[in-house]
Amino acid sequence: MEKIRLGKTGLKVSKVGFGVLTMGATQLNLPLDEGAELIRYAMDKGINLFDTAQYYKTYKYLRKALDGTNYEPIISSKCLKSSYEQMTEAIEEARRELNRDVIDIFMLHELISVKEYNFRAGALEALVDAKAKGWIRHIGVSTHYVDVAEMIADKIEIEILFPLINYKGLGIRDNRNFDGVGTSEAMAAAIKKAALAGKGVFGMKAFGGGNLTGTYRTALDYVYGLPGISAMMIGFGKKREIDDIVSYLDGTMLRDYTPDISKKRIFIDQGDCEGCNACVQRCPSKAIFVNENGLAEVNHDICLTCGYCAPVCPARAIIMIDKRKSE
Ligand code: SF4
Ligand code: SF4
Repeated sequence: MEKIRLGKTGLKVSKVGFGVLTMGATQLNLPLDEGAELIRYAMDKGINLFDTAQYYKTYKYLRKALDGTNYEPIISSKCLKSSYEQMTEAIEEARRELNRDVIDIFMLHELISVKEYNFRAGALEALVDAKAKGWIRHIGVSTHYVDVAEMIADKIEIEILFPLINYKGLGIRDNRNFDGVGTSEAMAAAIKKAALAGKGVFGMKAFGGGNLTGTYRTALDYVYGLPGISAMMIGFGKKREIDDIVSYLDGTMLRDYTPDISKKRIFIDQGDCEGCNACVQRCPSKAIFVNENGLAEVNHDICLTCGYCAPVCPARAIIMIDKRKSE
């Protein structure tokens, strides 16, 4: 698979990366061996970029996949916490659990505002120190927010931007707009600005959490046509999904290809839900309820998988996943 330079980092990454969140306990909950086999399958297909996070609890899959092999993937992890000590602990945990001396990329996970960048100064300082000690190679920021993505171009310490981008703008936020909603156009401009400033950019949610998978080629044509993006991170759950992206990227996919999404189910990530109630009001089937923690959940007995709820979620917490076993 073609490898692309990731900004000024010196890294060369495959055009598609593997987001390991999908196989973890909050989504598919794949058995360890099955998840590890899927990761090795991806590496055999030429994928060399892997995204994980302290919060995902998926280090074990990568470790198992790599144990006793000669694979040399680029691993990116991240931490939601804000203090120096918490970030240092997260980096040490990643090194220990992944059984690696050096983590290639470590990020401030899910930065939600320019103000929060300052609030997490301790965590950033820990990343800078960890880089100086050789524990990590490069520092990045992941975000769903256009205003945050725009800011990154001017931040010397930040080498990599990991923004949310898709052709329908699902989940894109912007603190500068009165309703907090951002657009694909604005995020695309922020990506271009960051890339021109020498930042490496890989994106997430090309399929809007599975809600755009039915328009497979349109979704990928959009993100891969954007200036400044080196790679897109995709959460694979099955070998067939890896085969699909490989055939898309090598140009052998049929022009009218549409994946089978008949077994997909709507799922609300409890870690991302903000309890705003918008999905509850939008669901025509009354299939979403608020649980004892004040967060939204889906009653699958009556959900019609119409997908109407996902676009109203400001937190991009509503995703569509395939509950079938890996194949
Ligand atoms: S997919 Fe449709 S039926 Fe299911 S929870 Fe969302 S809006 Fe309701
Ligand atoms: S719209 Fe999103 S954030 Fe709001 S309650 Fe539903 S899932 Fe949670």
